[in-house]
Amino acid sequence: MENTENKMSRRQAIGGLGLGIVAAASSPVLGSAASLGAYSLAPAIEDPLSKYPRPPFKEQKQAWPGLASQMDPRPDHGETSYKGSGRLTGRKALITGGDSGMGRAAAIAYAREGADVAINYLPAEEQDAREVIALIKKEGRRAVAIPGDLRDESFCKRLVDQAVKELGGLDILVNNAARQQTRESILDISSEDFDATMKTNVYAPFWVTKAALPHLKPGSVIIATTSVQASDPSAELFDYAQTKAANTAYVRSLAKQLGPKGIRVNGVAPGPIWTPLQVSGGATMEKLKNFGGDTPMGRPGQPAELASIYVQLAATDASYATGQVYGAAGGGGQP
Ligand code: NAD
Ligand code: MG
Repeated sequence: MENTENKMSRRQAIGGLGLGIVAAASSPVLGSAASLGAYSLAPAIEDPLSKYPRPPFKEQKQAWPGLASQMDPRPDHGETSYKGSGRLTGRKALITGGDSGMGRAAAIAYAREGADVAINYLPAEEQDAREVIALIKKEGRRAVAIPGDLRDESFCKRLVDQAVKELGGLDILVNNAARQQTRESILDISSEDFDATMKTNVYAPFWVTKAALPHLKPGSVIIATTSVQASDPSAELFDYAQTKAANTAYVRSLAKQLGPKGIRVNGVAPGPIWTPLQVSGGATMEKLKNFGGDTPMGRPGQPAELASIYVQLAATDASYATGQVYGAAGGGGQP
């Protein structure tokens, strides 16, 4: 433990040195401030190993669906770090599960890139959602909060209608919400359980996409959050892993169907990421304590580390990327 702390402080010292070099590089001695201005905005080089918390993590358990604000350590969704550069100016995005985790990281990044953003979440997550809404508004963008349960087909339709009405259109749809409950045996999965996972992870994206499609013009994008579980399923995530394989097939099939209409469909496949889903029944306590420890990086990812992928897939300059699944799994999760 002592050794790790020593290592950390040495790395932090090196990080500090990096900042010094950037400051020196933008000094007038080396070039005009105007020509080097852009470079001075670039963050100093960081070691991904020491950038974020590593296991062991404290034991913690929350009732589903969990709150990011109650996690220890608190996840990083890019609240203080994500810097936009106008890549999505004027775009209108709907993100399911936008209150926490990857959805929240995408919502913050989209707003900082100039998009108006609607988020959906469960009523129990109002507290997390309020933080996100405040961050979007702080960017001067329109923020729309639409709580409701995606397992209900009629709500999925209302969600899209309300988002379109309040945003004044829709051109980015992120199907990100999901349910994950760990069960040691298939015998422990009730039909109600299985149904809830399928409804949230497979039916809801189907219903939301059907409702959204008539509003999507050429240049619009659909992004699904899938998982490494799609190709490397865990024994104790029998039902969830099947839904993630379905999400990947959703991306690959729909991209072929919508390519001729100029609508791109892509996926993001995270590895172990530090989010409420994991502390509210998604992982066993054993797995949680060593969360991400078995990846080559030896730590879980933070939602902020995937934000730029959601931005990239939505941006116009990625115009030839469709039917793809971009991964971020700390070196693990290869099929
Ligand atoms: P999260 O708990 O922060 O986000 C999931 C969200 O889903 C919740 O915030 C909730 O708002 C929403 N949700 C769940 N059931 C719902 C329902 N019935 N109605 C409406 N909303 C509902 O966790 P996360 O890890 O950021 O999850 C986001 C996506 O990332 C999911 O698709 C998940 O499968 C995927 N993923 C996560 C990990 C990980 O390790 N955390 C790994 C791979 C993939
Ligand atoms: Mg949440």
